Amino acid sequence: MVKVKRKLSMNCSSCLKDFLKLYYLNSDHSIHFDNHFYCKNCFRRLFRQLPEKVKLTFHGYKRKEASNV
Ligand SMILES: [Zn+2]
Repeated sequence: MVKVKRKLSMNCSSCLKDFLKLYYLNSDHSIHFDNHFYCKNCFRRLFRQLPEKVKLTFHGYKRKEASNV
């Protein structure tokens, strides 16, 4: 039995650091930072720059209407 151990280390497309877990940003809206892998922090930062209508297409995103601090 052959066991393959792969090092799942990838670089964030924004901060270029190594991360074990990256998030793929794909909004289908041809934004310049679209279709890349990002770490959690960069993903959140870029996500905030998306237009509200694009954000709403993401699964799990909930519009913040009342809690706009
Ligand atoms: Zn990053």
